[in-house]
This record gives sequence, C-alpha cells and structure tokens, in this order.
Amino acid sequence: MSHKPIKRASDTSGATVTEPGAACKSPGGTGLDAIPGLVTVRPGRVFDLAAVETRADGGLDKAAAGEALVATRARIVALQERLYAEHRRSLLVVFQAIDTGGKDGTIRAVFEGVNPQGCRVWPFKVPSAEEADHDFLWRYHAKAPGRGMIGVFNRSHYEDVLVARVKNLVPESVWRPRYDQINDFEAMLTASGTTILKFFLHISKAEQKKRLEARIAAPEKQWKFDAADLVERAAWDAYQAAFTEALARCSTKAAPWHVVPADRKWFRNLVVARTIADTLEAMDPRIPEARPGVAGTIVPD
Ligand code: AMP
Ligand code: MG
Repeated sequence: MSHKPIKRASDTSGATVTEPGAACKSPGGTGLDAIPGLVTVRPGRVFDLAAVETRADGGLDKAAAGEALVATRARIVALQERLYAEHRRSLLVVFQAIDTGGKDGTIRAVFEGVNPQGCRVWPFKVPSAEEADHDFLWRYHAKAPGRGMIGVFNRSHYEDVLVARVKNLVPESVWRPRYDQINDFEAMLTASGTTILKFFLHISKAEQKKRLEARIAAPEKQWKFDAADLVERAAWDAYQAAFTEALARCSTKAAPWHVVPADRKWFRNLVVARTIADTLEAMDPRIPEARPGVAGTIVPD
C-alpha cells in the first residue's frame, strides 16, 4: 500500500471492537489493513449496536490522528482526481447519525481540499411537497453520483426507515418492505458502477447531552440548536432500535454498513477518511490514455 501506517500512541493492539463476534474488517472485504475500532456489520448476522463502543480511539492520540488525517486527505484528493479523469465509476458516501452525531463536522473535516467540481454533498431534510408526491427513493436516486463523481449524502434514504418508523410517519406495512427496497436500490446502483460506503456515526447518549449543551451555551452555535432535537432525544431508545435494524437488514456484501465510534471527533474523522481513501485505492481509478498522437504535438504560435 502506498500510505504510511498510522503512528500509535501505545503498543497495545488498539483493537476496540466490542460487537460480539464482529471482525474488524476492512471496507468491502478488499483485504486492506483493518482499521482498529471500526465495526463493519456482517451481512445476515445478528447485530447488537449497543455493544459497539462509542469512545474507541484505536490506540491513537489526538495529535497522531490529526497528522494521519492530513496525510489521508492528501490520498483522497489525489484519488478523487483520478476517479474524475477516468469518468467510468462513482463513489457514494452515506452518513447517518442521531442529532449532534457529527455528520456535518465529518464531511467538513474529511473532504477539505477535494476538488469541488468532482464532489457533491446533498443534505436531506423533511421531504418537500413534490418529493412526498413520489416514491420514497425518488429524491435520493436523483442525487446519486454520476460517472467520475463522489456523492455525499448527509442523511439519506435510510431516514425512511428511521424517522419514518420512529415517528409513525407511515404505517409499518409501508416502512417494513423498505429494507428490501433499499437493498435492491443499492444493488442496482452498485451494478451500474457506483461503489457505496455507508457510515453510521455512533455516539453515546451522554455525549449527545454534552453536545446539545454546548450548542445552547455558545452564542455562535445556538443557530444549530433545534428544540425538536429534545423531542428526538426523548425517543433515543426507539432510534437506536431503528438504527440497529436498518444496519442489520441493509448491510450487504456490496454495500456494508460501517459503524464509526464517534464520541471522539478526531478519531471519527480519521476512521472515515481512512475508509474512503482505502476504498478509492481499491477501486484503482486510472487516468485515461492520451488520444493517439497527442505526445509530441506542436502547438502553433
Ligand atoms: P438536520 O439534518 O438536523 O438539518 O435535520 C433534518 C431533519 O429532516 C431531521 O429532523 C430529519 O429527521 C428530517 N428528515 C430527513 N429525511 C426525512 C424523511 N425522509 N422523512 C421525514 N423527515 C426527514
Ligand atoms: Mg439538526
């Protein structure tokens, strides 16, 4: 592999995977180095989200992780340029988390410096009237990345088995079949040349309290505070149950779910960046060959 190993704060194994029986697998089973602390949900297995640690740090310290993030971002920038030039395939990166889970902060930290022309970020809010008039996948499909592009979903089609389920926005007879519909949708995107990476940013309830309090306390952060977040927080257990089922039902070989310990922002950012860089590297995008006769062409005065 072309990148340097991450410096460890200690000699300990750094293995912090706590999900029973879960292997700490590299993305997509590519055989790349495992990332300590990242839990990849194994398709078709029982999965216990509550057993996954939220404060794992992979045996790193903040300074080492910060340095590694800078180096990892450079890998993403270079690989993204090749993906864009190749213009054959695309990468879709999906972020899901509870409120304050760190979706926005992760996107900011991981994609800094990436050519904006080759990368689009789409946040998904409460569906508009027009969106609500269509099938639930319509608005997501419309934003799926085209050839050469990285697409980032800040919230996604999973909202339709998360908030829709927890708040009874539609009856169970409607949301339950959606797990299979999502798997079919993702299989179709994959078969069409899109590699899908799905990250669940996993924080504890205590960490969410701290982050909500920080939003309330700091005037420059108050705009982010939404009283509705407290209503959602009251439904914490229902959300965790909904996340658990979505991650278990929709982790497939082609598009597995990655659970990222996210109480420590610096570790979260590095884990996500490493997984994206490793995935792009495994895709191995190639710069197209020059058209015949380009080399040596003389440009007239
Ligand atoms: P935020 O991402 O914090 O700006 O909030 C966006 C809000 O939109 C959240 O409360 C989501 O639950 C909500 N939302 C996103 N997608 C859907 C959906 N498909 N159905 C209902 N609510 C949604
Ligand atoms: Mg919010």
